[in-house]
Amino acid sequence: MRPFVYDQPAARVIFGIGSLDRLSGEVKRLGARRAIVLSTPEQRGDAEEAFRRLGEMAAAIYAEAVMHVPIETARAARDVARRLDADCYVAIGGGSTIGLGKAIALETGMPILAVPTTFAGSEMTPIYGLTEGGIKKTGRDRKVLPRTVLYDPALTMTLPAKIAGPSGMNAIAHCVEGLYAEDANPVMTLLAAEGIRALSRSLPIVVKEPANLEARSDALYGAWLAGTVLGNVGMAIHHKLCHTLGGAFNLPHAETHTVVLPHAVEFNREAAPEAIEIAAGALGVRDAAQGLYDLAARLGAPLALKDIGMPAEGLDRAAKLAAENPYYNPRPVEYSGVRQLLENAYSGKRPA
Ligand code: NAD
Repeated sequence: MRPFVYDQPAARVIFGIGSLDRLSGEVKRLGARRAIVLSTPEQRGDAEEAFRRLGEMAAAIYAEAVMHVPIETARAARDVARRLDADCYVAIGGGSTIGLGKAIALETGMPILAVPTTFAGSEMTPIYGLTEGGIKKTGRDRKVLPRTVLYDPALTMTLPAKIAGPSGMNAIAHCVEGLYAEDANPVMTLLAAEGIRALSRSLPIVVKEPANLEARSDALYGAWLAGTVLGNVGMAIHHKLCHTLGGAFNLPHAETHTVVLPHAVEFNREAAPEAIEIAAGALGVRDAAQGLYDLAARLGAPLALKDIGMPAEGLDRAAKLAAENPYYNPRPVEYSGVRQLLENAYSGKRPA
């Protein structure tokens, strides 16, 4: 048995179809009196549902969440709370909306109740990202961790297949990298394997039968596990590469994860054989890299960086950026290996 440290931050999780009905009770439980509901403009309808359930505790809807969390948006939301004497935020949506909640918590220390509607997993992590003066900053702070997370699978019913598939692959990526994390521990390994099982069996159904609530529940359950893994152990080359590609070339978040993951697994295959074996077992395949590629194909998700906006002339720069700053990965990250990984991901070649 490898030595490990297990230090799980406490968060209250409520899971179940219709659990949005418990929103006002959960806000009260946090000791709050008046809540502001955060969402993207596209999810105003969900925000209104939450607002209605808050009854007299509903202070306002702030439907201005956007990608990359501009600090100005977080500050404007903070000012709304001051004006309306609110003392809590309900963030209903995907990683962008929950990211806005986290940026507000970082500035104000106010409690956030998260209601995730994608599979990204941000609600379970103390990791925040925001953009200030055109520069994206990320960090870790327990202050940004939502105090309560309410998972209601019914809210994912409106998630279209083209967002659901990549979002689920993004969650699987947290699990896979959690298996070979530098600070991996037995509990997170169990969660990661179960997360991969739940997501890989449910996502093809979510995409094929959009009205199948049972499959969506299963996927959201996997996403919870995946987010927990992401919040508890460190990630490696896959997450670092996706972060670099997103930042330097403005590629879409979940789609980039979907395309890169099989190639990152192929890259680490020899260096982390036990972890990759667990991933393959959980996917129910012989080879995890190929299994992940085939899963993305079944979901109708993108398979090549060239199809999601990556310029061919950017590959050298991306490989240099990735190899520049050393970080943990089971296999040493040097230029030529990463360049090859990126070439494969660019063309969308099935891992050998
Ligand atoms: P997103 O939050 O940007 O949402 C994408 C779009 O889908 C938005 O228009 C949103 O309104 C819409 N949407 C969300 N749920 C929906 C639903 N149920 N029905 C219909 N439309 C819905 O996408 P995401 O993939 O959830 O999050 C990506 C962002 O989250 C990235 O910026 C990423 O960096 C961040 N993230 C952070 C962490 C972390 O731990 N800090 C973890 C994962 C992702």
